[in-house]
Amino acid sequence: MVSHTMTTTHGPIDVHVHLSGNGKGGMDCWHRQRWIMKPFLWAGARDIGLKCGFADSGFDRMYLDQLLHWLSTSSLEAAVLLAEDWVRDDRGAVRKDLTDFFISNDKVFTAVKRSAKLLAGVSIHPARPDAVDELERCAAAGAVLLKLLPCVQNVDCNLSKYKPFWIKLADLGLPLLAHTGGEFFVRSCRNDLKSPGCLRLPLECGVTVIAAHCSTRALPWDGDYFEEFLQMRKDFQNFYGDLAALSHITHLKSLERLREEPERLLHGTDYPVVTAVFPSWLKGWIDRETMQHLRGIHNPLEKKIQLTKALGFPERVFTDLWGLLPRAPQLASLTNL
Ligand SMILES: [Zn+2]
Repeated sequence: MVSHTMTTTHGPIDVHVHLSGNGKGGMDCWHRQRWIMKPFLWAGARDIGLKCGFADSGFDRMYLDQLLHWLSTSSLEAAVLLAEDWVRDDRGAVRKDLTDFFISNDKVFTAVKRSAKLLAGVSIHPARPDAVDELERCAAAGAVLLKLLPCVQNVDCNLSKYKPFWIKLADLGLPLLAHTGGEFFVRSCRNDLKSPGCLRLPLECGVTVIAAHCSTRALPWDGDYFEEFLQMRKDFQNFYGDLAALSHITHLKSLERLREEPERLLHGTDYPVVTAVFPSWLKGWIDRETMQHLRGIHNPLEKKIQLTKALGFPERVFTDLWGLLPRAPQLASLTNL
């Protein structure tokens, strides 16, 4: 019997885009005011072209409007928009005192309705008493992946009591995008959970795991987990890394190695985190003309795509995620309509 497989060519997809909000528009998001982060929030807001400050009552709407503008004028076919669950204790109780940033799953579901190019990445702490129910609800509502920040949210993924949750996640076919390595913007309450080694149990349960930032350091004094990432990528065929935020001076050593060994890497920006172009020129990876061209791209989503291309990463880095998402075939037929 001859089987006809229809091959669909997909465009680039960004696995790592943040929704943001100051909570003034409702209860589905919350943000701690940390004076130390103000200059960075200001720099980020300027880079993405926001015309208002973070404390503005219209911030939430303007942030999403601006993201939709960049998305529609980029070469991206889609971007995964991320929720962020509360920091919780090991029994699942909310620890607002330890939380800097919260974005509910429903806020993300509402936001993705604004564009067919936006896909929902939900966040569910596995210690929540309703974790499996919430996972099923979100999968049924169209979530394409689960996002967690183990070191920030206190998720010790290797706890055996989370096994049923990981098995359910694998059954539903949703990848886990997990923060690894240094974290700069929000406080980490569990520095021991920055290592990719804390993702072994979900991997063993058959979950496709994407280590955000390939476990590289964010600041020079962060612990270095990059070698561990490389070893785990050899050990687990279902283990990937994303290139989100990777462009700054502290990332160069890891980026050099990733350029040489670009297996199972996925494109991401970490929007609204700023993409730096100068360090790649400093390293001699791009010439002055290319640097100037990249600096002239005002669309932050597009700038990272073009930088990653200029650094010589293969095309599959931009599209391999399509094959890992649960609803890829349906999405393909929808976009072909
Ligand atoms: Zn991020």
